[in-house]
Parts: sequence; structure tokens; C-alpha cells
Amino acid sequence: MKHQSGRHFLQIPGPTNVPDRVLRAIDSATIDHRGPDFQVLSREVLSGLKRVFRTNGQVVIFPASGTGAWEAALVNTLSPGDQVLMFETGHFATLWLNMAQRLGLEPVFVPGDWRHGVDPAQVEARLAEDKAHAIKAVMVVHNETSTGVATRIAEVRKAIDRARHPALFMVDTISSLASIDYRHDEWGVDVTVAGSQKGLMLPPGLSFNAVSEKALAASVRAKLPRSYWNWEEMIASNKDGWFPYTPATNLLYGLREALKMLLDEEGLENVFKRHDRHAEATRRAVRAWGLEILCLNPAEYSSSLTAVLMPEGHGEIEFRKVVLEHFNLSLGSGLTKLRDRVFRIGHLGDFNDLMLAGTLCGIEMGLGLAGVPHEKGGVDAAMEYLARGAQVKSKAKSGAKARAA
Ligand SMILES: *Cc1c(COP(=O)(O)O)cnc(C)c1O
Repeated sequence: MKHQSGRHFLQIPGPTNVPDRVLRAIDSATIDHRGPDFQVLSREVLSGLKRVFRTNGQVVIFPASGTGAWEAALVNTLSPGDQVLMFETGHFATLWLNMAQRLGLEPVFVPGDWRHGVDPAQVEARLAEDKAHAIKAVMVVHNETSTGVATRIAEVRKAIDRARHPALFMVDTISSLASIDYRHDEWGVDVTVAGSQKGLMLPPGLSFNAVSEKALAASVRAKLPRSYWNWEEMIASNKDGWFPYTPATNLLYGLREALKMLLDEEGLENVFKRHDRHAEATRRAVRAWGLEILCLNPAEYSSSLTAVLMPEGHGEIEFRKVVLEHFNLSLGSGLTKLRDRVFRIGHLGDFNDLMLAGTLCGIEMGLGLAGVPHEKGGVDAAMEYLARGAQVKSKAKSGAKARAA
């Protein structure tokens, strides 16, 4: 491999850039996972995670990619032949569907156009039809990473309540947790699924379930076979700070550092505002280029990533290749139905204004080099918006100073 000077821009929507501090935390000696120091570590990360999920209930950690936590959500709560209600929001919702089918569940899959989130009215209508309560779970991807569309989870909860349906509510937040506002308890979610390598700013390798009391009660009756993913032993061991099998100790060091940064130093509210602001600046750039944002409903714009449609006759594969070769910048590809049709700009995780400006510069130059028809001025539009935000911030600061004086 040829040496490339400077930093690689990893602007795919996960894995995201891992802060140096987190890398350094991971680079510590592995300790005895049955010793007293480990007990302190596991208690710290478990209580920090509860604050990120906004839950007072249980959170469990698996040494696995997000897909493992998907499986854990299903096998702990459901039985063979159970109906589950799912929605075709994009690639990740479809993968979760495939898993449900392979595990012997009977999904009811509501088709979608990959440009919208889950429609709460459809949730209500489907559940209202199910008078016998055959549907045991409603499964929704919060932020569909293949399309840049975010479903309004609080609205889906209200729809389930309006239908007075007892189904469990399961939400995949793998690319939204710690990037987009999310409230496990307040929104009455029974199982939240998450992963380490997106908003949590860690390498891949950890995944999570936040579990409600109702989901725990369901797990006692659930008949799907489970062993490695069993919540019961995990929760029992976690009570005293232990794990039922060897934990990914070094990733937990990284998690402790990331939680400190997100919860104590920046604050989750500020983390969400930062993501909203970078997403808005990105959309302004895309519009100035004269390109089309894949997400059709502004109320469902994702703050983690933006998917951009290529103009007719131009593919994203060649475009992303040009950008990578010239500018050492990785952008997200078009997945399955969107292959060669959209590129995705990840703006989540450890990210700031100049990293975004650099990313957008690489895209604007790449559009020119790849011969993709577009207007100039996308970077300018983003800069103008970012600078205005910065001005408001410094005015607020000097205002506070003047009042204090
Ligand atoms: C990344 C992602 C997944 C898959 O997670 P892995 O860690 O690759 O197993 C699932 N769902 C969503 C929404 C994702 O963004």
C-alpha cells in the first residue's frame, strides 16, 4: 500500500472516526475480567449506557456487531411462528426481515419506496386489523442508514397505543444512538438495539440491547432457542459487575472514554444539536449542487447521514472511486436497490465544522473530476450556514459575559 500523507476522511455512515482519546484508552493492558478493577469498569459503562438510552431498565452488552444485537432482541422475546410487523424502509430493515424469517418468525412486511420512514398511520391501521393480537412485535429501524431517513419513533409509539395493541415495540438505533434524540423509556420501547461503531465513536465489535420490564417478562415465555444471546445469564452476572463469558475488555475501556466525552464533557443535548447542524449544512450544499436528497419528507431527514441521488446516466461507484483516489475520502455506497444510484455522506460521530467542510470540498471537486453535472457553490452554501451558527454562538457567549459583568 502506498503511503498517503494526512488523515483519511472516513465519511461513511459507520464505522465512524474513532477519537484518538478512545484509541488510547483501548490501548491499555487487558485485565482479569474476574478481578476488582473490571467490576468497577463494567459498572461504570453499564450506568453510562443507561443514560445514553435514557432508560432506568436493563442494558446488556454483547461482543458482536449490531447484527448480533438484532438476533438477541428476537430470540429472547419471541417464539417460532410468531407474527412480527416490519416495514420496508430500506436495506437494513430488509436484512432484519431476512433474519426474522430465518429464525422461524412470520413477518408481515409492509412495502415501502426507500424514501420514507415508517408511517405511524399504517402502524395503527395494521394493528387495528389484528383483532386477535397475532402480531407479537412491531420492529422499526429508527435511522435507516441506507437512505438517510429517520422514522419518528415517538409517533409510532402513539400509533401502537391508539390501536390498543399489546405487541412489543423493538427499535434499531444502530446509526442513531448518541447522534439523534432517542428515549427508550419515555417512548415506551421494549427492546432497543444499538452498536458501537457509529454514534458511540468506537471501533466495531460491541452491540447492545436496552430491555424493558415487558420485554423481560416476554423472555420468560419465549421459545426461540438461545444460548450465547441469552439475556438471563447476562443480566444475572452484570448485577455484580461480571459477564457470563469473556467480555471485550479493551473495547469497554474505549466505551468508558466515549461515554465520558458524550455525557459529561459535551452533553447529549449538544451532541444532538451538533448533528442537526451538520446535517442541515450538508443538505444546503446538496441543494446548491442541484442534486436531489433521497429522503422526501423533511420531517424525516436524518441527522446522521445524507443520501444523495446521482443524476441520470451517472453512477455513484465511479464517482466514489474518483473521490477516494484523489482526496483520500471514503463516502457511503448505494446498497442493494440503491446500488450505483446514491452516495451517502456520513456526518455522525466524532466530527466538526472543518471536517464537514473538507468532506464537502472533496465531494464538490470529485463531482467536477468525475464529470457529474452539478452547480458550483455547495461548499459556500454550507460555509455560510456554519459560520452563521458560529456567530450566534459567540454572540450568546459575549451576551452572557456582559450580563455577568
Ligand atoms: C450498521 C447498521 C446495522 C448493521 O450493524 P453491523 O454492526 O454491521 O452488524 C444494522 N442496522 C442499522 C440501522 C445500521 O446502521
